[in-house]
Amino acid sequence: MHTAQGPAPQARRFRHPHLPALRLVPVVVCLLLCGCTAGKPPASSASRDRDVPLPIDSVTIHGEVPRNSNLATMLSTQGLATDAVRHVVMAARSVFDPRRLRASQPFSIERSLEGTLRLFEYEIDPDWFLRIMPASAGAAELRAELVPIPKTLEQATAAGTIGGSTPSLFQAMEAAGEGAELTMAMADIFSGEIDFNTELQPDDRFVLTFEKWNREGRPSTYGAITAAEFHNAGRVVRAIRFTTPGGKPDYYDEHGRSLRRFFLRSPLKFEPRITSRYSSQRMHPILHTERAHNGIDYGAPIGAPVVAISPGTVLSATYDNANGRMVRVRHSNGYVSFYLHLSAFAPGVSAGARVAQGQTIGRVGMTGLATGPHLHYGLQRNGAWVDPLSAQRKMPPGEPVPPEALKTFALARDGALAALGQTPSGTH
Ligand SMILES: [Zn+2]
Repeated sequence: MHTAQGPAPQARRFRHPHLPALRLVPVVVCLLLCGCTAGKPPASSASRDRDVPLPIDSVTIHGEVPRNSNLATMLSTQGLATDAVRHVVMAARSVFDPRRLRASQPFSIERSLEGTLRLFEYEIDPDWFLRIMPASAGAAELRAELVPIPKTLEQATAAGTIGGSTPSLFQAMEAAGEGAELTMAMADIFSGEIDFNTELQPDDRFVLTFEKWNREGRPSTYGAITAAEFHNAGRVVRAIRFTTPGGKPDYYDEHGRSLRRFFLRSPLKFEPRITSRYSSQRMHPILHTERAHNGIDYGAPIGAPVVAISPGTVLSATYDNANGRMVRVRHSNGYVSFYLHLSAFAPGVSAGARVAQGQTIGRVGMTGLATGPHLHYGLQRNGAWVDPLSAQRKMPPGEPVPPEALKTFALARDGALAALGQTPSGTH
């Protein structure tokens, strides 16, 4: 496996608290002249002179951002003086919006006993941390910067089979030593081709190559899946990541056909199952009357994300006694999709909002007339109900690789399939 050095040789190692959330442990570091650096990241920044031993009046705190906290209150709680807090918040604003501070993210503070700041570090996301420190040794003026988190990139491979002790995609991926995020990413790629809610079969198997970021002392995070192959009920679906000239990276089969569909196979990422299909007649479980079931019910846990099946505009996000919280989205070609019984709407989902395909619009719930947590998903075309499953199958695929890029694509494909341990089949 090839390993590339990650960014930021100048970055100090970001120290992780390894502490349960909300617990803060003050540590007095570096006593006298022992030269010990325990509890303190190795300094390498030019502006900090590592040869000068820290005075005894320094306190370092590693913690995680508490819930319902903001930057100012968090810093005051950790013993920073009022003036220092104000300066930190001001400095932070030059590179980071303090309102983006997130609960449970790790941070560390190094301060004097009087409450002046020596160093503040906050992990923004898996890629970046915020660092604030005096502009020069002993200066009151603070400098804030965004620093990439040191990590290494690995090209990795994983394979799994459905069945036996691994009946679900999640379990099969876990058995391969990889996490749920990778499972979700793979399911996304194949979501136009395979409905993982209903079509997964015993002996289905997959293999994929992907980028994996390794960070010291922390779970790895995933980069892009570069290629994947899924054997589903006897057929093989392949996905190759490719960027067409002037386009964005997307996934294509081995012939350069887009894996994107106008509609996703389902508005749930996967795992949940269909509990009631579309039909023109059915006994209503609560009203006990014979009536059509104008959609599909998916059994799913409360809180599971519900995504828009296609790009569109939100027509309404409303509550009523029958449908509960319901989102309606208008798509092109006269289609309107309906998502019922939600426990919550996603932020920003209201009439007039644009939504992308696969964007979360709400959470599964049981509001309105519902006997248990489920998603009722309905689809209309020109005002008439249609069966979403058969409508999806009739949808045209996305744009294929354009003819002028097919040569480049073939090279990328052959490399990708070789990495999967496959020989390319059928060249066009
Ligand atoms: Zn229903």
